[in-house]
Amino acid sequence: MSPASHAPASSSSSDAPRLLADHPALDLLNTLERAFDAPVDRWQTDDDVWRWLERVALLPNGELPAERPKGMLAAATSLRESLRQAVSLRKAGGTVDVTLLNEYLAADACRTSLAPADDGKIRLARVYPTDTPMQCLVPLTLAAAELLAHGDFSLIRKCESETCSMWFYDRTRAHRRRWCSMALCGNRHKVAAYRRREASASAAAANGSNESNTGGATTASNASNASDAA
Ligand SMILES: [Zn+2]
Repeated sequence: MSPASHAPASSSSSDAPRLLADHPALDLLNTLERAFDAPVDRWQTDDDVWRWLERVALLPNGELPAERPKGMLAAATSLRESLRQAVSLRKAGGTVDVTLLNEYLAADACRTSLAPADDGKIRLARVYPTDTPMQCLVPLTLAAAELLAHGDFSLIRKCESETCSMWFYDRTRAHRRRWCSMALCGNRHKVAAYRRREASASAAAANGSNESNTGGATTASNASNASDAA
């Protein structure tokens, strides 16, 4: 049997990953986030993975296993990077290698059983074994497989910001979502566009006033340099 952890998945070693993709398999990709051009991995420990699975409601059997196998970080990271490659290739129209994803799917040993309940009814339960990290990742792996098999890849997109790496599933009615978040990348884009308009307006104004000056060429060039620096 694998070594197991009994301690609660409590203390955090990193900032919580943002959940904004509208699909758990794309939120999985976003646990590695590019920030100021350097990748930031929001997963640093096994417990980070357990906490994330809890947040996206993909824990095996809907709860933290009493005994949690070690090695979750390595297994979940490997699944994530395999899916990243598959999604990128699928977007680019390339042939996806599903070998590793199929290995994860092969860990699915879910059993279905009937259990009498206290109220006299009978419950039908699906029970996931949780002995290995791959078994614990089966619900997440199924979400990834569902995305690859049934996802509409015209709606699976990356944030339009050049400095942002976040993926999302565009479920807006008009299918015009451009940003991971309007509050972050959308707003940054609006501010940058506003500054560009301001700069070109003030450059045009400076050019206009310089044209009426004598010896305006030198002054116009100075004004343009000043607006570049702003
Ligand atoms: Zn973004």
